[in-house]
Amino acid sequence: MKLLKAFVAVTFVASAPATGQDAQQRVEWNRPFESFRIADNVHYVGTAGLAAYLITDPAGHVLIDGGLPESAPLIAANIRQLGFRVEDVRYLLINHAHADHSGGLAELKRLSGAQLVASAGDRADLESGRVAGRPQILSAPPVQVDRIVRDGETIRLGANRLTANLTPGHTRGCTSWSYRSRERTYLFACSLSVAGQNLIDDPTYPHAAADFARSFARLQRMRADVFLTFHPGFFDMEARRARQRAGDEAAFVDRSELQRQVARARNAFEAELAAQRQKRP
Ligand SMILES: [Zn+2]
Repeated sequence: MKLLKAFVAVTFVASAPATGQDAQQRVEWNRPFESFRIADNVHYVGTAGLAAYLITDPAGHVLIDGGLPESAPLIAANIRQLGFRVEDVRYLLINHAHADHSGGLAELKRLSGAQLVASAGDRADLESGRVAGRPQILSAPPVQVDRIVRDGETIRLGANRLTANLTPGHTRGCTSWSYRSRERTYLFACSLSVAGQNLIDDPTYPHAAADFARSFARLQRMRADVFLTFHPGFFDMEARRARQRAGDEAAFVDRSELQRQVARARNAFEAELAAQRQKRP
């Protein structure tokens, strides 16, 4: 049930002024969490409720996601706590342009001097700080995109290669990043929840339902030894970290997690699509 609740809460919706529930959610998401190495050169540097990942290399680091605006100093401190320099982050990547993931990017870009890399579909929303057509979604500090990635394109830095897999639906530019270390494959999956998106006749995103269906099919065919996403409750981050601390070095390796997550998200999407069709006049 905990997981189901997380699915419902995945998009941060702010009414103006923020309701008490939103403010409480925000504080819960931003609870500090001690950074740690997941495996190989992949590190968790996010908060308790919003993930950020640092993939390190002597040539420079890649940071994926920035959390909320107020998460930026916590992410920077988490990077330093692991012994890395924020100034050595060369690329900032993003899973999707909603303020609970993109809110900290402007500040992290200022601190690091890194280039922000994003898909064309999310560019306008990142640069305006608003989600086009959905004014109820919390706004983020605007941040300039320095480089656009196409589907299948790779970001190279030192020995590391990260590949952009466009998996739109949750946003127009939702991007799942994949990475292969010498030992194993990782997927940093974009959010897959409907989260209030109008699936039938949204003039600002008319193909949302078709995009979701294609993204599920695509992710279902992929393989990952380590499945990671940006609301860490989805892969039981805290429980896995506790197992890792207790000596289980493979606590984050779970080759069936990706398929399980996609099946669950697709079921929730189909139920939501049916409900929206029924409400149609
Ligand atoms: Zn979102």
